Amino acid sequence: MTFSIHGLAVARGIAVGRAVLVASSRVDVAHYFIATDQVESEIQRVVDARECVIEEINKLQQTLPKDAPPELAALLDVHMMLLQDEMLASGINTWVRERSYNAEWALSSQLEVVARQFDEMEDPYLRERKGDLEQVVERILRHLKGDHNGLPQRGSVEANELVQQQDLLAGEQLEVPLILVAHDLSPADLLQFKQSVFTGFVTDVGGKTSHTAIVAKSLDIPAVVGARTASHLIRQDDWIIVDGDAGVVIIDPSPIILDEYSFKQRQAKVDRERLSRLRHRPATTLDEQPVELLANIEMPEDTKTAISVGAVGVGLFRSEFLFMGRDGQLPDEAEQYRAYCAAVEGMKGLPVTIRTVDVGADKSLDRTSKDESHLNPALGLRAIRWSLSEPGMFLTQLRAILRAAAKGQVNLLIPMLAHAREIQQTLSLIKTAQHQLDAKGEVYGPVKVGAMIEIPAAAISVRMFLKYFDFLSIGTNDLIQYTLAIDRADEQVAHLYDPLHPAVLRLVADTISACRQAGKSVSICGEMAGDPAMTKLLLGLGLRSFSMHPTQILSVKQEILRADTQLLQKWAQDVICSDDPSLLLEQHRNSKSV
Ligand code: PEP
Ligand code: MG
Repeated sequence: MTFSIHGLAVARGIAVGRAVLVASSRVDVAHYFIATDQVESEIQRVVDARECVIEEINKLQQTLPKDAPPELAALLDVHMMLLQDEMLASGINTWVRERSYNAEWALSSQLEVVARQFDEMEDPYLRERKGDLEQVVERILRHLKGDHNGLPQRGSVEANELVQQQDLLAGEQLEVPLILVAHDLSPADLLQFKQSVFTGFVTDVGGKTSHTAIVAKSLDIPAVVGARTASHLIRQDDWIIVDGDAGVVIIDPSPIILDEYSFKQRQAKVDRERLSRLRHRPATTLDEQPVELLANIEMPEDTKTAISVGAVGVGLFRSEFLFMGRDGQLPDEAEQYRAYCAAVEGMKGLPVTIRTVDVGADKSLDRTSKDESHLNPALGLRAIRWSLSEPGMFLTQLRAILRAAAKGQVNLLIPMLAHAREIQQTLSLIKTAQHQLDAKGEVYGPVKVGAMIEIPAAAISVRMFLKYFDFLSIGTNDLIQYTLAIDRADEQVAHLYDPLHPAVLRLVADTISACRQAGKSVSICGEMAGDPAMTKLLLGLGLRSFSMHPTQILSVKQEILRADTQLLQKWAQDVICSDDPSLLLEQHRNSKSV
């Protein structure tokens, strides 16, 4: 039966494929495709592992003390029964034979199938047997992993949920496109999908500008986040459609719906081809105002995409992605230096703005999805606050960036500043890093130093920032979160996360205007910059530098080519003074004015 789930659209496009559910097994599960001649041996692996568990339970049954509670004996009987259940075995064989899944993947997929049947049972006693089934499967998985102490050990569910996605690397010959469905994925985990086989993904949680969503966008595959119950309602191997434009996931689509979506897919392809012709066109408005279109990147390799869409530099290199997903092991100076040089070289002489590490909130260093150990991580020791509390780490990063600046044009960008004291400490540490390099005789280059304006306090005291910095970059993702008191990662309040709230627009407009008056450059590097619906408003407010995910550059350029900033100025002032800016934007779009 066809049904749909609504979430938040974060990465455009349409994907049609079979769902791969990330199982919440407490054991790491390797996922890879096997060759046809491995089918029998793979099935045999499961049979052997299952035999081992049967033997274990047999032993336990025989050595059970006489005074053991009767429930224990009954429980072991249930485990034995589940182990020998035909449905488990035959299902596993099917996944291996028909889908070429490896043994562990087949086992965890079949666990999902059988567990759902338990969920649907009316009898509460039988329903609760699902837990036993999970324990039994966990034991088999441990044997498959070569851990012959099959007893379950509690680990972090989230950490293991991410199923070693490296195993699903591109290059595998896939006949059926696969779509990843998960409850949650941390940004670090998502990074591993950069080369994965998935053609789309869906998560239950996450807001539109959560870091998970931002990384999803950089994968350039259709994605929907905040789909709440998706991972419960979608079953392993279901056919699904991910509509990344509308934020909808359609499960078990009928042939008519499939036809409609394949038409949309073809249409999107035509649109992309049309846009790609703009690649070499300079981004200049109808009244000859040049506009700078820069790329946001997470890894040095992303510079390839940035160049391919005609970005004229990197406006935001989120360096924290070099620090994440490595179990807290920080990259040393040499490793960071190599990464920064790779980005500089990748941009072929164009400027690269490297932001110092911004971990915390929904970007934790290890693989757990969120820092839940603190009361309110988004308001806690995040970004520059963390860097200033770890001066050794910060100096290492600064030295690596300064040295990379000898290879090309590098700007240094500092996230989440609010206080004069933080600014002074930061600038003083930059000087210390330079002295350390002098003392070692290391070559380094000049850098322009900029601050992100992403806390309302910073926007309101923008003139103080202008005294200290060469340029400013407005981080609207956080500016909106902190102005409106909305956690950007929380899908439950996503409807209140409003880039067009008059207070947000006022802070953005005042920051742009203060920079222009001071003759200093200002850019926006939050998601607002990559939203074509916002382009004309921002041009009208005087913005001439936009930094965004590379996939957005050509759509924003199209808007710029059709805009006249002379005409937009007055209108933009009306919009920011209105109680309902979204209405004015809508009217403007419908009137097709330039
Ligand atoms: C922002 O806050 O707008 C920004 C660009 O930084 P990040 O999204 O990495 O927090
Ligand atoms: Mg930010």
